[in-house]
Amino acid sequence: MSLKARINRIIKFSNVDGPGNRMAIFFQKCNFNCEYCHNPETIKSCIHCGKCVEFCKSGALEKVDGIIKWDKTKCCECDQCIKNCSIDSSPKTLEYSVEDVIEEIDKVKFFIKGITVSGGESSLSFEFITLLFKRVKELWPHLTCFVDTNGGVDFQLEIYKEFVEITDAFMLDVKAWDLKEHIELTGVSNENVIKNLIYLERIDKLFEVRTVVVKDILNNILTVENVSKIISNKYIRYKIIKYRPFGVRADKIEKLKSPSQEEQENLEKLANNLNVKSTLII
Ligand code: SF4
Ligand code: SF4
Repeated sequence: MSLKARINRIIKFSNVDGPGNRMAIFFQKCNFNCEYCHNPETIKSCIHCGKCVEFCKSGALEKVDGIIKWDKTKCCECDQCIKNCSIDSSPKTLEYSVEDVIEEIDKVKFFIKGITVSGGESSLSFEFITLLFKRVKELWPHLTCFVDTNGGVDFQLEIYKEFVEITDAFMLDVKAWDLKEHIELTGVSNENVIKNLIYLERIDKLFEVRTVVVKDILNNILTVENVSKIISNKYIRYKIIKYRPFGVRADKIEKLKSPSQEEQENLEKLANNLNVKSTLII
């Protein structure tokens, strides 16, 4: 049986997921549980409890042999299923083989510079992605293959060797430098994230680092300072992103505050003073 992966959605054209126009593929499931997650329905896999079926007024959902089936052609994208999911997941995911994804890329191959895998956390599907990237490179060597990752797994482990080799470049989130803050924000340690930051910079596979700035609860200066010191030797883009409350779980919103424009500009100055070659505040 060919390897399959559960994919939350595929965006045919994106200009925010790496260089140029790219196809972005969002894998279901994440090993972090970030308080500010904008797509919390991508974190957990559906447990097929069936609760969402009654909220679908379009008849796009049904339970067949204990498994929830989603009919994309009937779906009106009202997202009532997601809003009423018992575990903050989504029934609107599909299982793809590598060849299924290749078929999707084939439709747009003349209009894109490459593909980016994202999530959820894409690296949890590293075996599938390794095969996918190999196939893309056989068929269309001009397309680049990027990985958007939270850096939660240790890319220096032997099992990730081929995955790292076949990937053209990574885009890495560094959410907090302080261990305690990182655990509070994401539920897990940042030990692998920092190891990956250093490793990917060293092997020239780091395209971009992203830090989301949250006022008061995170030491944003500490994070920007330490990341900047590591990436400033090479042309690596640093995106310093203002936290925005859109799509965030309702019970988390109270606690999370956006920084002011002035605070963002001060972080930009800090990165620039530490010789980061390309800093972007957004
Ligand atoms: S978004 Fe969900 S609830 Fe709405 S039509 Fe589609 S499957 Fe049904
Ligand atoms: S999407 Fe949520 S509510 Fe629907 S079957 Fe899966 S776990 Fe249950």
